[in-house]
Amino acid sequence: MADLSIATIGPVIPSLSVVIPAYNEESNLLKLYQELISVINKIGMPWEVILVDDGSNDQTWQKITLLHKNDERVKGIQFSRNFGHQNALLAGLSCSNGQVVICMDADLQHPPELIPKLINEWQNGNKIVNTIRIDSKNLSAFKKVTSKLFYKIYSLLSGVDIESGMADFRLFDRQALISILQFQEQGLFFRGIVKWIGFPTTQISFQCPERFSGKTKYTIKKMFRFALDGITSFSIIPLRLGVAVGIITGLIAFWQMAYAIYAKVFLNVTVPGWATTIAVMSFMFGILFILLGLMGEYIGRILIETRNRPRFIINEQVGFNLNIKDGPQKRDLDLHDSIDTNLMVM
Ligand code: UDP
Ligand code: MG
Repeated sequence: MADLSIATIGPVIPSLSVVIPAYNEESNLLKLYQELISVINKIGMPWEVILVDDGSNDQTWQKITLLHKNDERVKGIQFSRNFGHQNALLAGLSCSNGQVVICMDADLQHPPELIPKLINEWQNGNKIVNTIRIDSKNLSAFKKVTSKLFYKIYSLLSGVDIESGMADFRLFDRQALISILQFQEQGLFFRGIVKWIGFPTTQISFQCPERFSGKTKYTIKKMFRFALDGITSFSIIPLRLGVAVGIITGLIAFWQMAYAIYAKVFLNVTVPGWATTIAVMSFMFGILFILLGLMGEYIGRILIETRNRPRFIINEQVGFNLNIKDGPQKRDLDLHDSIDTNLMVM
């Protein structure tokens, strides 16, 4: 009878995926690739680099296909249009195969030299390794202030504590990643989700250099959208604050009204002050409209969620076996079933 006992297999070497969203980053990709491989080649893990072209209108996709032709471990996904950084991250992560997956920006603001440190923390048992950007002198004052302010307000309003300067330069163990890929919500906000799912987590800080080339793709409009999505996708604390403000102002108004009646009836004086009345009224209306807008934001989110549209649409790909021609991205997770598994087999 054949011996069915399993032969002794040597230790399986875990594999590494690096996921990089790129939106109009043609001038950064070659330098990024060179710096990246000089680091990850030394780690001793089989690796793949997944570049996600988020609907660029420069030569980003041509650069990605060239890199793939030159090195098959570089794979690429091209979106049909710009779906945003978080969705590009999601697509890359959904298609990744590695036991360890690292995501980073394409503009070299996330130094590849940090990758061995991230992996070291993973080897120490952490399933998520976050990075915190130490603001360097060359970071614009505007970015510093808006980022600090955002994290303060975000933590207050969402109930999820995020350190100021948290970057989307992060390591996931496959187990943590599988949990994150189960989230089907639109406008996925990774910085909040990684806190929410738990798992042993650590963080390391890094000096953030200036962009290698090009300008930031986070316009003020995108930053505002990102901040609102981040807050409204995480909690309804802003709505509760609205109720609290309503109760407080209601009590003040009631007290003032009671005093006005008391003064008229018992003291026979009328309370003067048209100017103050108008000021208070305008203030109240201001608050009221902000709260109405806020409720609209939440209702809008419900609409977006119930429509259940795909979070991204892929136009082209290189290096994957994604079935994008028939039934494109029915659910993002279908991608994960159809990926090639050559990195898994070692
Ligand atoms: N990015 C993207 N889609 C977008 C905006 C940005 O894929 O709509 C990518 C961009 O190419 C970069 C990363 O997200 O790799 C971070 O963007 P950026 O460097 O412009 O942001 P900043 O560092 O200024 O916050
Ligand atoms: Mg950047």
